[in-house]
Amino acid sequence: MPRLWIKDTLTFLNQEITLKGWVDSRRDNGKIIFIDLRDKTGLIQLVFSPDKPEIYELANRLRSEWVIEVTGKISNRPAGMENPKLATGTIELEVASLKVLAEAQTPPFDLSTDGKEISEDLRLQYRYLDLRRSRMKKNLIHRHHFIKFIRDYLTNKDFIEIETPNLTKSTPEGARDYVVPARLSPGKFYALPQSPQQYKQLLMVAGVERYFQIARCFRDEDTRGDRQPEFTQLDLEMDFPQQEDILSLIEDLFKQLIEKLYPDKRISVFPFPRLSYQEVMEKYHTDKPDLRKNKNDPQELAFAFIVDFPLFEWKEEEKRFDAVHHPFTRPQFEEGETIAQLISRLKQDPSKPLAQQYDFVLNGYEIGGGSLRIHEPELLEAIFEIMGHSKEAIKQKFGHLLEAFSYGVPPHGGIALGLDRILMLLENEPSIREVIAFPKTGDGRDLMMNAPSEIDEKQLKELHLKTF
Ligand code: ASP
Repeated sequence: MPRLWIKDTLTFLNQEITLKGWVDSRRDNGKIIFIDLRDKTGLIQLVFSPDKPEIYELANRLRSEWVIEVTGKISNRPAGMENPKLATGTIELEVASLKVLAEAQTPPFDLSTDGKEISEDLRLQYRYLDLRRSRMKKNLIHRHHFIKFIRDYLTNKDFIEIETPNLTKSTPEGARDYVVPARLSPGKFYALPQSPQQYKQLLMVAGVERYFQIARCFRDEDTRGDRQPEFTQLDLEMDFPQQEDILSLIEDLFKQLIEKLYPDKRISVFPFPRLSYQEVMEKYHTDKPDLRKNKNDPQELAFAFIVDFPLFEWKEEEKRFDAVHHPFTRPQFEEGETIAQLISRLKQDPSKPLAQQYDFVLNGYEIGGGSLRIHEPELLEAIFEIMGHSKEAIKQKFGHLLEAFSYGVPPHGGIALGLDRILMLLENEPSIREVIAFPKTGDGRDLMMNAPSEIDEKQLKELHLKTF
């Protein structure tokens, strides 16, 4: 028999059906026992009357979170007993047979509230229970629809989704790498990707033309507020773009997404403002300004693109210039300038040139960033040199990319968006942990799985590792 969901029970009036799910709550009026049965689609009232003593006795034992199967007839509730707060509030199921499939201990916290009053560590330790609460379930379902919308939208625009490896080599995005020891190459390590940046550029060399990925990124950063060691990006790349092609693609994607999935939200300014870095720094003293007209209005969405970032910034501790975005970012050319002229201008004063880089901001948060890329090997090499890399280091770290660019690379560019953060804002949640199924604590621990954890001597030996 196909599984019948609670949301579909309204169409089975006066018919006998079977439902499965969890005991959400129970009430009795002295005689009749009422149980709210829950599945992922909703709640329905079950009715147990004393004239079926065997079932009634079993029903008397039922406690919250037990898993049961019931069969019975769907009927209209008696007049005046309807519950307008419930989608199935006009009907109930008169139970004719009851099976207990699993008993449950009393959960360590209340599952009927929004959970905000409970210690977050406890919620994370019992995340499989915490996710049963309706707010968290809603967040998971909305996340699914959000990602599906993006996938469908980009598919319609001739993008294809391609998975890139997680065991790879470091790509500089400005954070520390997570590394994985390579058992078969003693003393060597993979890096988990900080982003699929190099792969997506190599896919442009491969002639894919329009790529995207719902990609997991890994960055080993010190505890900083709302960051996670691994997070999800919409990563995309296309060939032959003007900067405006990428901005208007993202703008249209979000306009349509908000209209379809968040119709109660209001986009404050459309088209999204394009503001220069210099302008926002002077006016708002931040490169992620909150442009909402009314900051108390949770339904207002103020998107903007920040453009014209400087290409390099001076790193005082390291006494060198570093890329503001990443080294693959294309500088802005002056009218009629050749590559050689650009390189000599960059070398003269690296602090001056601007980049073909853009950030995407929403309500005071940076929610994405990207750039047009350098596709000329000699320009890329010059950038690495300005950043203080020796010729040998460039060859060792980026030789594969420079070589790939010698085989016919189209001009290309892309962007990456932080999906966890965008969802947090759309769902009016205070933290990205509320929209991630299994997040880690601020200090990178998974309290449910108890990770990270020690590994045994034998594993260490196999991996050619010693711990101190
Ligand atoms: N790889 C960049 C990032 O993760 C985005 C991009 O340049 O496309 O921030």
